[in-house]
Amino acid sequence: SGQRLYLGMDFGTSGARFALIDKHGTIFSEAKREYPKYMSEETIDWICSWKTTLFSLLEDVPVNLRPLIASISIDGTSATTIILDSYTGEPLWRPFLYNESCPDALPMVKSIAPANHTVCSGTSTLCKLVSWWNIGGANKTSAVLLHQADWLSWLLHGKLGVSDYNNALKVGYDPEVESYPPWLLSQPYSQLLPSVKAPGASIGFLKEDIRTKFGFPKDCVVCTGTTDSIAAFLAARATEPGKAVTSLGSTLAIKLLSTNRIEDARFGVYSHRLDDKWLVGGASNTGGAVLRQIFTDEQLEKLSDHINPMEASPLDYYPLQAVGERFPLVDPEMAPRLHPRPQSDVEYLHGILESIARIEAKAYRLLKDLGATQVEEVFTAGGGAKNEKWIRIRERVLGLPVRRAIQTEAAYGAALLALKGAPHN
Ligand code: ADP
Repeated sequence: SGQRLYLGMDFGTSGARFALIDKHGTIFSEAKREYPKYMSEETIDWICSWKTTLFSLLEDVPVNLRPLIASISIDGTSATTIILDSYTGEPLWRPFLYNESCPDALPMVKSIAPANHTVCSGTSTLCKLVSWWNIGGANKTSAVLLHQADWLSWLLHGKLGVSDYNNALKVGYDPEVESYPPWLLSQPYSQLLPSVKAPGASIGFLKEDIRTKFGFPKDCVVCTGTTDSIAAFLAARATEPGKAVTSLGSTLAIKLLSTNRIEDARFGVYSHRLDDKWLVGGASNTGGAVLRQIFTDEQLEKLSDHINPMEASPLDYYPLQAVGERFPLVDPEMAPRLHPRPQSDVEYLHGILESIARIEAKAYRLLKDLGATQVEEVFTAGGGAKNEKWIRIRERVLGLPVRRAIQTEAAYGAALLALKGAPHN
């Protein structure tokens, strides 16, 4: 009965966005909001800030389009953790942010988890849970753990304790067997763990008060989400095994869709499940941050114009912002290598871009050596994606077709999850 639209919302590190699409993926509306910085006891009150942003964004959705919205999905930053009282829904603690480390919990987590498990990192959701458990005290038995995306969706659907297997990976959920592992379930705090669905699965109807206040339709459902970086991958619509997305932002991150699951803690390589496939990822410390230290974005554009991408640069650098690399090489002592600097800035930039391309090629080779599906085509996201000369250099060095991704916003990926989870699909 008429046209339907699908709403994706992205809660990233610096702000939040929405994208509203139809079933073909055409964008009908988009908007962005910065997080308001509400203060409470000298720290930012993130709960208040995210909640305000969620409803501000809903208000930004054009009034005439709201009645067409069939489903909503939200992504959030990975390992951002909120512990709530399961009776009142009130937070029992300030949120643990994605990049916050809880080293105090690490020895305990390491003593229960298998060696090199993704939870064995101070920033993992499980370390945050254990850290809270150890200091917590009150309300321990009536608490529930949610990730940022789960919590924001809960504000919309009202069923407490639902997550997705992408967000739940860092708390220890095993998406392969679709359960929490026995070593986790035997812990006293396992009662806090949310139930887990696939990303883009319908949870329930949008709460009536919100629906009527904003003018959303009666059948509008809220679906499970994912993490912000997975949502950004989904945006590129690289849906076949062998398709990959290289993100050329401040750092270089690669994500490859594979038929099999790859894990290697030495390189920080691990896999997220996406239905019947695996999203294998790794991140190098090289990337655009180094370029920005040397050239302005305007210089980058002007100098790139003069590069002949068909010509191989003889300059062999390892651009790093600081000492240390972990993927595709493990060397905590590795020093940045950006010398010799030629007289010509064009040659210098060519050498740097080509050196980063070689690191990218090595990264894809490593994933293959670790057993992932062979890469066939690379989409590009991030600030470096607009550089056409770099794309040509990378095609030559990678020996693969390289394209700029048409959509790179995580909010667009979340909208695709909403489309996936809408009832008639
Ligand atoms: P972040 O990871 O910080 O979100 P962005 O995706 O916004 O980064 O990308 C910013 C990076 O893109 C900067 O480090 C900058 O050096 C790089 N960049 C900007 N313009 C160009 C260009 N024309 N060619 C290559 N790199 C570029």
